[in-house]
Formats: sequence, C-alpha cells, structure tokens
Amino acid sequence: MSGKTHLGIGIITLAALCNKIPVKFNYSGIIIVSIASMLPDIDHPKSLINKYSLLNKTKHIKKFIYFILGLIIIYINFTYIHKQVLYIAPLLLFTVAFSNHRQGITHSLCGLIIAASVSSYLGLKYNVSNLIYYVIIGYGMHIICDMCTKMGVPLLYPFKNKKYKFFLNFSSNSKWGKAIEEFILLIGLMYVIYRLPVILV
Ligand SMILES: [Zn+2]
Repeated sequence: MSGKTHLGIGIITLAALCNKIPVKFNYSGIIIVSIASMLPDIDHPKSLINKYSLLNKTKHIKKFIYFILGLIIIYINFTYIHKQVLYIAPLLLFTVAFSNHRQGITHSLCGLIIAASVSSYLGLKYNVSNLIYYVIIGYGMHIICDMCTKMGVPLLYPFKNKKYKFFLNFSSNSKWGKAIEEFILLIGLMYVIYRLPVILV
C-alpha cells in the first residue's frame, strides 16, 4: 500500500475517532498521526518516510544509515547522557537496518507495542497529553491496511514468521489495487469534510 494511502487513512481514522476517544483533530494531532502511520514502512528503503531521510534509497544505504545512527546514539549515551532507557533506540535502529520490508518487527504486534510504549514514555516525560492514542491510530491502522494486501504482514513476529492477511485482499501494485486505494481516499476525504463542522469545534 502506498505511503500516501497510509497517511490518508491515518488522518481519516483520526477524524472518525475524534470526540470518541481523547484525541483532537488539530495540527499537532494530524502531524503525529501522519508520522505514526508512515513509521512501519521505515523498513522499506523507498518508502515515503525514507524518501527524504536517505540520500540514496537502496537496501545497503538504508542498512548503513540506520546502523551508523544506532552507533552514534550508543556513543553519545555512553559518553554524555548515561540513560539506560535510551539504549532501546539503537536496538530498534539496528532491527530496522537489518530487516527487509514487511519481514521484521515494524509490521508486527510487537512493533505496535514498542511504538505505544515509547510514545507513552515520551508523552509523560514531555507532557504531550494522549500521545499514545495518536501513535496507536497511525501505527495500528497501517498494520490493518497492509493486512488488506496480498503480501500480508508478519503479525506475530518474532514468534512466527507467517504473514497474516484478510480474506478479502488486493495487490497494491496492480491497476485495480491502485484504483481501490484512490477510491478509499476519495470516500475518506468526503467523510472528513462531512465531519469537519463537528470535530473542529
Ligand atoms: Zn507497510
């Protein structure tokens, strides 16, 4: 599924759940959901989230950049900051560096739990209320949407490598797949416009 579709569906879900759970349809909410909805595809060198962060979008460059970034964080933490919890970041970066698209932790329930835990910690530390809800909306919807595609996702990774998908699924690279994604976005956009008078209050 394209990055644009993931981003759109994250924002549509935010509009749908706003006023039902403690989230707001405002600039910061939209930005956090947008980032979270693209985050699982960090394992794909050509994904929307890597488009501007990697100079050369190849597997090896992705591996190299995330690996080096992990080492830099270890060095800075070991030399200056000395916070045990910060070692989680390089661990995650190394996992991303060495996992192929939809074959690792980023598209699993474990990945979702890690993203939720980190956001809960950051939300409490930096006083960003309900950050965890926005992250779960974006990240969770990404995994659900990828389960609608033929490729499926390794939902139970690292315990099982099996790819899970819904009974009704489509190939996101096919002509039909692209048309379905465009259609979902169009209906979703109309729904957001319909909800705007209520959610912008
Ligand atoms: Zn994905």
